[in-house]
Amino acid sequence: MSYIEKEIELIQFWKDNNIFEKSVEQRPKNNSYVFYDGPPFATGLPQHGNILSIVTKDVFPRYWTMKGHRCERRWGWDCHGLPIESVCEKTLNLKQKNEIYEMGVEEFNEFCRSKVLWYANEWKKTVDRMGKWIEFDNSYKTMDNTYMETVWYIFKKLYTEGFIYKGKKVLFYCPRCETPLSNSEISMDNSYKDITEQSITAKFELKEDPKTFLLAWTTTPWTLIGNVALAVNSKQAYVKIKVDSEYLILIKNKIDTIKEEYEIIKEFKGKELLNKEYEPLYQISTKSSKKGHLVIDGGDEVLSDEGTGIIHIALYGEFDYEMIDKYDLPLIQHIDEHGELADGPKDWIGLWFKDVDEKVLEDLHNRNLLYNSEDYIHSYPFCYRCDTPLIYNALDAWFINIQQIKPRLLKTNKNINWYPKEISKRYQKIIETAPDWCISRNRFWATAMPIWECENCKEVRVIGSVKELQENAIEEVPDGLDLHRHIVDKIHIKCPSCGKIMNRISEVFDCWLESGSMPYAAKHYPFENIEWFQHNFPSDFVSEYIAQVRAWFYYMHVISILLFDDIPFKNVVVNGNLLGEDGTKMSKSKGNYPDPNHIIEKYGADALRIYLMSSQLMRAQDLIFKEEKVKQIYRRFNLLLINVLKFYSLIDIDKVTINTAHSDNILDRWIVSLLNTLIREVTQLMNDYDTSEVCRLFFNFIEDFSTWYIKNSRNRFKSYKINEKSSAIKTLSYILKNISILLAPLTPFISEIIYQKLKKRGIVDLKSVHLEFWLEFDERLIDSEVLRQMGIVREVVKKSLELRDNAKIPVRQILNEVTLRGVNITDDYIDIIAEAINVKEVTIGNREDSELSVELDTKITPSLRMEGIARNLIRHLNNYRKQLNLSTKNRIDLYLKINDKDISEALQRHERKIKNMIQADNIIQNLETKQDIKKFKIENKVVEAYIEVKN
Ligand SMILES: [Zn+2]
Ligand SMILES: [Zn+2]
Repeated sequence: MSYIEKEIELIQFWKDNNIFEKSVEQRPKNNSYVFYDGPPFATGLPQHGNILSIVTKDVFPRYWTMKGHRCERRWGWDCHGLPIESVCEKTLNLKQKNEIYEMGVEEFNEFCRSKVLWYANEWKKTVDRMGKWIEFDNSYKTMDNTYMETVWYIFKKLYTEGFIYKGKKVLFYCPRCETPLSNSEISMDNSYKDITEQSITAKFELKEDPKTFLLAWTTTPWTLIGNVALAVNSKQAYVKIKVDSEYLILIKNKIDTIKEEYEIIKEFKGKELLNKEYEPLYQISTKSSKKGHLVIDGGDEVLSDEGTGIIHIALYGEFDYEMIDKYDLPLIQHIDEHGELADGPKDWIGLWFKDVDEKVLEDLHNRNLLYNSEDYIHSYPFCYRCDTPLIYNALDAWFINIQQIKPRLLKTNKNINWYPKEISKRYQKIIETAPDWCISRNRFWATAMPIWECENCKEVRVIGSVKELQENAIEEVPDGLDLHRHIVDKIHIKCPSCGKIMNRISEVFDCWLESGSMPYAAKHYPFENIEWFQHNFPSDFVSEYIAQVRAWFYYMHVISILLFDDIPFKNVVVNGNLLGEDGTKMSKSKGNYPDPNHIIEKYGADALRIYLMSSQLMRAQDLIFKEEKVKQIYRRFNLLLINVLKFYSLIDIDKVTINTAHSDNILDRWIVSLLNTLIREVTQLMNDYDTSEVCRLFFNFIEDFSTWYIKNSRNRFKSYKINEKSSAIKTLSYILKNISILLAPLTPFISEIIYQKLKKRGIVDLKSVHLEFWLEFDERLIDSEVLRQMGIVREVVKKSLELRDNAKIPVRQILNEVTLRGVNITDDYIDIIAEAINVKEVTIGNREDSELSVELDTKITPSLRMEGIARNLIRHLNNYRKQLNLSTKNRIDLYLKINDKDISEALQRHERKIKNMIQADNIIQNLETKQDIKKFKIENKVVEAYIEVKN
């Protein structure tokens, strides 16, 4: 069975034996480790980024479970909002919002419901295959009636306590989806793109001064139609210049942007321009009693690198709206909610706002009101779902007042442990600059906002539960009502003030309000689970990729401050972004990354798990996905362990007990010291949520274990001396058992493979390694003197092997002597050196207090050569034994045919040793009657051999 097949077999083994359920249930209820699994949007197939998140959120719950905590894990799905709506619109081929009304909100919403869990099965497969343990089938969904009811409860509580207000604000708005988007939604998924547009400088003629023009620069010509003012900086110097027969006004420090010949007529402070009126570029039909088309003071905002020091003000910008408010200017919305021109030149009415740009450009040019136009590259936001360019729009919307709780958010941020630590600062900045939270969306598929408004007296009523609705509704309301808008909109309330009908407002909630309510809504708190909640809030751990810092983490924090004045989670692990092989965002259309399933099929889940967990992703830095690296890890980690395990399987033992890790052998003591150091360090690092450092320690340990400990202990495992052999086997079993437990959270598969192998030998006795407790290190088993001396030994061996390499003498050729200087080690270690570098004699030269030096006698005498040949023979014959799958228990007779004098002589001289090393009773130099003969070469001479197994 291949390694990959073994992984797959284990998934079934865990399921058949309910290991996950047992691992949770066996831990006491009053010692919980609470974990929120941030729900993914149920709209697509799992990608590498999701896998990273799946693994991070598996490693720590496993670890804390082994530490004795009860860690319940339940999957969740984000089912609402634009992501799912836009998928459905595409499927239904709906291009505009009013097509949804034509189709019917009910039908549209039910279609969304039917599509939500479309990919759930694919997710389940990936979750299982990656070895992630979670209650998957019993998942919570943000579209559950119970979930939505908690969201109602929360909204009503916040409304009653005065944190909610309705207001007009300038928000990013998608004219295709016809809904505002929050700042965090836009900054989350690289919504900004660099685009080239025409920037223009328009001429505004002063009313009192014909032929004199104020120059104003803009990158959005379509907004000029709705211009209401021009802003200058009153303290800066401006100039009036003469160009041909016209006069132009701009800020003095931008005068070098004038390319024509000019003459300065006058220099003056911007203050002089204030309140001057100018001719609007366009006539519009929107009537306003407010006065516009005049010069105002815009303060420092006016002094940007671009432009003319004179800013054109329309409704479509944050600063603009601030000015409109401050100077009480007319509110002109000349673009309608579909993004089409609603006011301005008659011929253009109905044009898509972006198409208006070109019209304006041409028109101003024809009317000699265009001073200049040029290509301009800038970063512009697009809708993260439908890719439509966004506009700022002044909208009526519902908000949570963030400014009111900002000091509490900032203060309590100090109680959150961010991993890595530096995210805390970043998060602080996010809070400091956070605007009020727009929680209403003019959409369909989400929890309906529970606000009813009287059609007569405009009285407002907020409902906080299905029961409350039942008590107040005119119509019959069933228990457990579905709170989507197409259902709730049919329910009316009688106005308590005037007795007329109250209708629900049309808005639904921002789906982030739902995600942020997860700690309560997933448990239907406070309608259920009140006691559970008291003991299990805040949670111990959450994890997500970096973009969620300003999204899910932030929104959860806001809501928990509003509800309980407390943080919602104590520890947060923030991942970086996985990038495609070309260093850009992973994209299906670019094909810049390998299919995750293909990686898992090739290298297994554990290799991918440890690749991700060892990377800088765990320090919130981005990583370019490299298949080659997964492959390396598979070799460096999985294969090394598998080979150790194979070696272990071939050792003949009946039964080993490993109650004690004590052994007099220094190699044993050394690896036991290393292991206990490892336990100490790994525990500390896991407590600090630092998996990349944990992985580094594991890589080092496994290399030391397999390429130093096992390699230099090989002969002991075959020894006839019972004590020598049993101490080696005991130690090896002890190390394997401990490694299996230590690796369990990180690489649950290979850890279980090792454990089950040990179980067969009676060394461990639980059903699964994942039911074990975490290890305690034993200080007494860390022998610092052994570690020090072995350090020197390894240094000596490394140098000696380099010397051999330089002299081109292979290690299996025994040499006479190595002379060491500047070393202080005991005889036991000298034996290890002799064996590792294959010399007869290790001499310690007497040059005290000097630096380490190694001198290798590289002369090969005839007798050394004979020994070398004998060793070569042993090596080939042992390979032959391996191919026959023999264990050290199997005794053999060896049949040989040798046609070379030297090889024959080597055999003769070292026959006893050879027999010993290959567990042979007899060596017979005769191959007649034998079939399936093995051939190999020694010093280019052919040797033929046949092994007859005796037991
Ligand atoms: Zn959109
Ligand atoms: Zn009323």
